[in-house]
Amino acid sequence: MLQEIDWHARAKAVALPNRPFIDGQYVDSLSGETFACIYPGDGRPLTDVASCNAADVDVAVRSARKAFEAGVWSRMAPADRRRILLRFSELILANREELALLETLNVGKPIANAYNGDVVSAAACIAWYAEAIDKVYGEVAATAYDMTTLVMREPLGIVAAVVPWNYPMSMAAWKLGPALATGNSVILKPAEQSPFTALKFGELAIEAGMPPGVLNVVPGLGHIAGKALGLHMDVDCVGFTGSTEVGKYFMQYSGQSNIKRIGLELGGKSPQVVLADCDDLDAAAAGIAAGIFANTGQVCNAGSRLIVDEKIHDQLLEKIAAQAKVFAPGDPLDTATRMGSMVSEEQMDRVLGYIDAGRADGARPVIGGGRVKTETGGFYIEPTIFEGVRNDMKIAQEEIFGPVLSAIPVKGFDEAMATANDTVYGLAGAVWTGSVKNAHRAAKSLRAGVVWVNCFDRGSLAVPFGGFKQSGFGRDKSLHAMDKYTDLKAVWFAH
Ligand code: NAP
Ligand code: MG
Repeated sequence: MLQEIDWHARAKAVALPNRPFIDGQYVDSLSGETFACIYPGDGRPLTDVASCNAADVDVAVRSARKAFEAGVWSRMAPADRRRILLRFSELILANREELALLETLNVGKPIANAYNGDVVSAAACIAWYAEAIDKVYGEVAATAYDMTTLVMREPLGIVAAVVPWNYPMSMAAWKLGPALATGNSVILKPAEQSPFTALKFGELAIEAGMPPGVLNVVPGLGHIAGKALGLHMDVDCVGFTGSTEVGKYFMQYSGQSNIKRIGLELGGKSPQVVLADCDDLDAAAAGIAAGIFANTGQVCNAGSRLIVDEKIHDQLLEKIAAQAKVFAPGDPLDTATRMGSMVSEEQMDRVLGYIDAGRADGARPVIGGGRVKTETGGFYIEPTIFEGVRNDMKIAQEEIFGPVLSAIPVKGFDEAMATANDTVYGLAGAVWTGSVKNAHRAAKSLRAGVVWVNCFDRGSLAVPFGGFKQSGFGRDKSLHAMDKYTDLKAVWFAH
């Protein structure tokens, strides 16, 4: 299927959604302002997209509030919401080709990944919460004999979902699934680099039977549309995924406005710890290479710091370098490509800046270290591995969000753990070891929301995902995510 499609021809013909989707339809923005969408695979402009401002956001909030108060969704029986959300999920899959193509055009990720990964996982996420919502129960509390006391969950009202560009559909679905299933109205603000699939989701939700206003989509710039949502007095909650820097702004917006609830899935600098007792260096090397080069390293939990015992350092680096060959950058629309372009020229320049900083600090590139495929006009960086990194260097402390691995040699378990935890982030971490004892000790020692032992980047909708420390708080995925979009109400019946 994937291979049978002429993706270049489809790319020329596909309609590019570029207007806000509010109250059940595409509308013109009030400002008339636009921003340009560029295909990062060749650097050429695709279309101009409406740039929503505070007035547009206000229209979207009013529409969402009207739907919420009317109860057309918020008071619908969970089993009925379930049916509509399942239909929404089916429509995402039915539009798989188009959604995969729109995603690749926006962000330059390989079409095979968009088609087999992003679309499918977004659809699965919506279906998971649809299936869950009529199977969660409230509580009856153990109070006095002449009392019946219920503890119930109620939707918050209007949820703003502000999401990044690295996995636009999945990140949106992680918010939409639990927020919509629990009865909220949602306003989705995609990253400026990736508005297409978000807008398409608005359209598909209506086709699935979701009432107008329950899901509105406002493309726009972060410091305008995102900020307007953060400061809006009638938005009850922001579900945010993005950088720690912008996460901090959302905490401020909340304090400056209405104490809206904030859930933050932020950045990371995840350690891949390889102990001297690792008994399968080939598996470790494959996991480590995929963990930093997949999605061009533009992954929040990318295993960007390799903390490796000096006894196995050289041997392991050789194996990772061999694995990295699989990720040679290629044409995102070619179905064989495993690594595409960076999302934008700006992001490419940022990553190249970090590579320069690594060299200046005395680290040495074992492989990679530069821009490639310049003749295409696109923004490609080759897989890069630095050796001789100290954990206090910039490339070991700051989130690069690109295909750059920093190898830091250590001696023994304790130094490995101390180095792994010496970071402001705490999203994820991994340990590779043949010792059961060290596996358990490391799982407890690593200060991170997710720990992988002898594997990397495994995930399931059944398992919560999110960070410790400056990687944020609140969890996406699993039933726990529903806590973010509901409030507890205690009701006392005297009799
Ligand atoms: P970003 O710059 O923080 O942007 C995220 C979202 O916030 C975008 O929609 C952006 O809009 C908006 N925004 C930017 N500035 C804003 C402001 N001043 N006020 C309100 N909203 C604002 O992040 P990104 O560059 O898109 O994505 C990369 C980051 O996301 C990385 O740090 C990565 O680690 C993190 N991430 C975390 C997870 C996780 O689950 N923990 C998952 C994926 C990514 P514009 O695009 O229009 O600026
Ligand atoms: Mg941004």
